[in-house]
Amino acid sequence: MGELLLPQKCAGCATPGALLCDDCRLELARPPERVFPNTAPLVPVFALGPYAGAHRGVVLSMKERNHLAVRKYAGAVLRAGVEYLEARGDIPVSAVLVPAPTRQSSARARGGDPVEQICRASGCAVAPVLSLDPRAADQSGLDEAARRSNLSGAVRLTAAPGGRVVVVDDVVTTGATLHASVAILLAHGVDVAACVTLCAA
Ligand SMILES: [Zn+2]
Repeated sequence: MGELLLPQKCAGCATPGALLCDDCRLELARPPERVFPNTAPLVPVFALGPYAGAHRGVVLSMKERNHLAVRKYAGAVLRAGVEYLEARGDIPVSAVLVPAPTRQSSARARGGDPVEQICRASGCAVAPVLSLDPRAADQSGLDEAARRSNLSGAVRLTAAPGGRVVVVDDVVTTGATLHASVAILLAHGVDVAACVTLCAA
């Protein structure tokens, strides 16, 4: 009866059944790859997959209140990607994860910031030290140049994280958010090793 009341579907592909189907789990196990966004964020960027298929489905599901449970699984996927990059020497071991900033209003509407929650679910050290000026416009719908100027000066550092850090976001599109995030960290003397995202659009 519980299933009839709360029909469960795969967060990756919407097939009825488990929270993540076997096919999507397999797809999410792919190793991360380096990507090259147009607005290069001054450090290497690695994406765990394309903004398509299971990766895209999981990112969209994370933003739905009725799919909050998928954030835990996305955290495990992030952890696996981070460990792969550590083993390959692409990022330092035990780097602190810094979630890319989210507009507070949208984070509240989603039941908390999904990026911060997947960082915490990864089990890695997390320092949520970046915030976005509430006057910055929603990035979706803006072109690349508009995104850059929208974010210029809009990302704030609320505390200085110790050690080397890796900036994490759900999707990298133009690279504007990652660039603004890395720039403010570097400007405050923080050692930024890389950026890792769940998807590259
Ligand atoms: Zn699936």
